[in-house]
Amino acid sequence: MKIGEDFQCAARERDITWWSIRGCSFCGVPIGYVFERGAVAFSSGCGCNSLDGMEERSWDDVAAHYNMQTHPDVIAQYNSFWGWEEKL
Ligand SMILES: [Zn+2]
Repeated sequence: MKIGEDFQCAARERDITWWSIRGCSFCGVPIGYVFERGAVAFSSGCGCNSLDGMEERSWDDVAAHYNMQTHPDVIAQYNSFWGWEEKL
Protein backbone atom coordinates (compact mmCIF):
# COMPACT_ATOMS: atom_id res chain seq x y z
CA MET A 1 0.00 0.00 0.00
CA LYS A 2 1.17 3.50 -0.80
CA ILE A 3 -0.02 6.83 0.53
CA GLY A 4 -0.41 10.13 -1.26
CA GLU A 5 2.81 11.44 0.22
CA ASP A 6 4.78 8.62 -1.44
CA PHE A 7 3.61 9.84 -4.82
CA GLN A 8 4.13 13.48 -4.01
CA CYS A 9 7.75 12.80 -2.98
CA ALA A 10 8.46 10.56 -5.97
CA ALA A 11 7.01 13.10 -8.39
CA ARG A 12 9.15 15.84 -6.89
CA GLU A 13 12.34 13.79 -6.76
CA ARG A 14 11.97 12.26 -10.20
CA ASP A 15 10.42 15.31 -11.83
CA ILE A 16 7.33 13.39 -12.92
CA THR A 17 4.66 15.62 -14.41
CA TRP A 18 2.37 13.13 -16.07
CA TRP A 19 1.18 9.61 -15.28
CA SER A 20 -0.76 8.06 -18.10
CA ILE A 21 -2.85 5.22 -16.76
CA ARG A 22 -4.82 4.20 -19.84
CA GLY A 23 -6.07 5.34 -23.19
CA CYS A 24 -9.54 6.65 -23.86
CA SER A 25 -11.69 3.65 -24.75
CA PHE A 26 -13.15 5.61 -27.66
CA CYS A 27 -10.29 7.50 -29.28
CA GLY A 28 -7.15 6.17 -27.56
CA VAL A 29 -5.96 9.54 -26.29
CA PRO A 30 -3.97 9.01 -23.06
CA ILE A 31 -5.84 9.59 -19.85
CA GLY A 32 -4.06 10.13 -16.60
CA TYR A 33 -2.83 12.30 -13.80
CA VAL A 34 -1.07 15.60 -14.31
CA PHE A 35 1.28 16.92 -11.62
CA GLU A 36 2.13 20.56 -11.56
CA ARG A 37 3.83 22.48 -8.78
CA GLY A 38 2.66 19.98 -6.17
CA ALA A 39 -0.96 19.98 -7.36
CA VAL A 40 -2.77 17.07 -8.99
CA ALA A 41 -5.31 17.03 -11.78
CA PHE A 42 -6.91 14.27 -13.76
CA SER A 43 -6.91 14.81 -17.50
CA SER A 44 -9.24 12.94 -19.78
CA GLY A 45 -7.41 14.55 -22.69
CA CYS A 46 -10.31 14.39 -25.11
CA GLY A 47 -13.98 15.21 -25.32
CA CYS A 48 -15.39 11.69 -25.52
CA ASN A 49 -17.19 11.79 -22.19
CA SER A 50 -18.91 14.43 -20.14
CA LEU A 51 -15.94 14.74 -17.80
CA ASP A 52 -13.62 16.10 -20.45
CA GLY A 53 -10.85 18.47 -19.59
CA MET A 54 -9.05 18.75 -16.30
CA GLU A 55 -10.42 17.88 -12.93
CA GLU A 56 -8.80 18.60 -9.63
CA ARG A 57 -7.56 15.55 -7.71
CA SER A 58 -5.50 14.86 -4.62
CA TRP A 59 -2.37 12.82 -4.05
CA ASP A 60 -4.54 10.42 -2.07
CA ASP A 61 -6.58 9.82 -5.23
CA VAL A 62 -3.38 8.88 -7.03
CA ALA A 63 -2.46 6.50 -4.20
CA ALA A 64 -5.96 5.02 -4.26
CA HIS A 65 -5.63 4.27 -7.96
CA TYR A 66 -2.33 2.55 -7.31
CA ASN A 67 -3.59 0.62 -4.31
CA MET A 68 -6.63 -0.79 -6.09
CA GLN A 69 -4.48 -2.56 -8.70
CA THR A 70 -4.38 -6.32 -8.32
CA HIS A 71 -2.58 -7.51 -11.44
CA PRO A 72 1.14 -8.13 -10.76
CA ASP A 73 2.15 -6.89 -14.22
CA VAL A 74 0.32 -3.62 -13.73
CA ILE A 75 1.79 -3.14 -10.27
CA ALA A 76 5.29 -3.92 -11.58
CA GLN A 77 4.81 -1.43 -14.39
CA TYR A 78 3.64 1.23 -11.96
CA ASN A 79 6.54 0.54 -9.59
CA SER A 80 8.96 0.87 -12.46
CA PHE A 81 7.40 4.17 -13.49
CA TRP A 82 7.56 5.59 -9.99
CA GLY A 83 11.02 4.23 -9.26
CA TRP A 84 9.92 1.62 -6.75
CA GLU A 85 11.74 -1.40 -8.01
CA GLU A 86 11.62 -3.30 -4.76
CA LYS A 87 9.11 -6.05 -4.13
CA LEU A 88 6.26 -4.95 -1.94
ZN1 LIG B 1 -11.51 10.07 -26.33
